Amino acid sequence: MPGNEAFSGFDGLLNQRQPIRTLSAILAKGSIPHAMLFTGVDGIGKLTIANIFAMACNCSEVARVYSGNIDEPHNTHRERKVSNPCGKCRSCRKILSGNHPDIINIEPSGLIIKIIQIRELCNSLILKPYEAKVRVILISDAHKMNKEAGNALLKILEEPPERTLFVLTATHTSDLLPTIVSRCQQIRFNPVSRKNIEKILIDNHGISEDEAFAAASMANGSLARALSIAPGKVGRVSLNNWRKWLVNEVEILPSRSMSSVLAFAEKLAEKKAYISDTLEILKTYLRDILIYRYSPEIIINIDLASRIKSFSQKTTVESIVSKIEAVQVAQRSITANANLKLTLELMVMRLANPIG
Ligand SMILES: [Zn+2]
Repeated sequence: MPGNEAFSGFDGLLNQRQPIRTLSAILAKGSIPHAMLFTGVDGIGKLTIANIFAMACNCSEVARVYSGNIDEPHNTHRERKVSNPCGKCRSCRKILSGNHPDIINIEPSGLIIKIIQIRELCNSLILKPYEAKVRVILISDAHKMNKEAGNALLKILEEPPERTLFVLTATHTSDLLPTIVSRCQQIRFNPVSRKNIEKILIDNHGISEDEAFAAASMANGSLARALSIAPGKVGRVSLNNWRKWLVNEVEILPSRSMSSVLAFAEKLAEKKAYISDTLEILKTYLRDILIYRYSPEIIINIDLASRIKSFSQKTTVESIVSKIEAVQVAQRSITANANLKLTLELMVMRLANPIG
């Protein structure tokens, strides 16, 4: 959610011109759909934009401009920025402070969105909106709805309550029930370019060029992820230090005793919250070792280029491919809810195979 201090509306967002243009067109036409689905990787501003859109739907300033009362000298300028909520009117201020009774946020409780959350939502929707012109229900990570919750939501979407807009966010449409997807107007969000992320890390967060390059490369288009990887962020674990430690361990694993190898698996399992980052880091590093011999200029862990070079000279393609596969198998097993410790043990045993 944007802060109160310098509210810049849609203008403060990078690289999302296309979705913002689509949303502006919807506002200009005044025909707000019943349901929209925002898709794209985590941390690219889907929820922020959903909140700004909720503000724009209810902003008295936006309404004034669209009502045709735009015969002011600066109206050409205003018209271009017309979809931007003012951030100052009563409705905008309530939404900004998270106190608007008609803006309802549903997010996963633990790992899933439960049926009870959707049932409670249904009950509250029987009433008309309290004060909003458009009531907005934001369902974050909608792909985390279990089947029952998804079906309950589908029932509401089939007979949507008046003056109510649902905004669902998800990574991919394929993670949702097709029947839900077909009820929503889909808006795709672009990953932020590596260059832009790098620039923000350097300019706004004072991160060094090398670190910014490494974090931006591993961020997969998500500024939030880049910030979590970049070092020196107060209150955040530095994934960059974790990455360096992991790389070190993986290199010496083949020379280790079986008990040290299993202890490594145990350490990874203890950091359960970072397991998807951990596996992604391992995979990216191993992939760099593989591609170094063909296209050294496109490796991702550029700050570790000299280590990658020497590792790549010591190993064979078969050996490194088998290690990448071991990580991919672990990723799939964990997604499928397999036993974490066992999965990691099997993975590290393959990673500990001789490198030659
Ligand atoms: Zn406003």
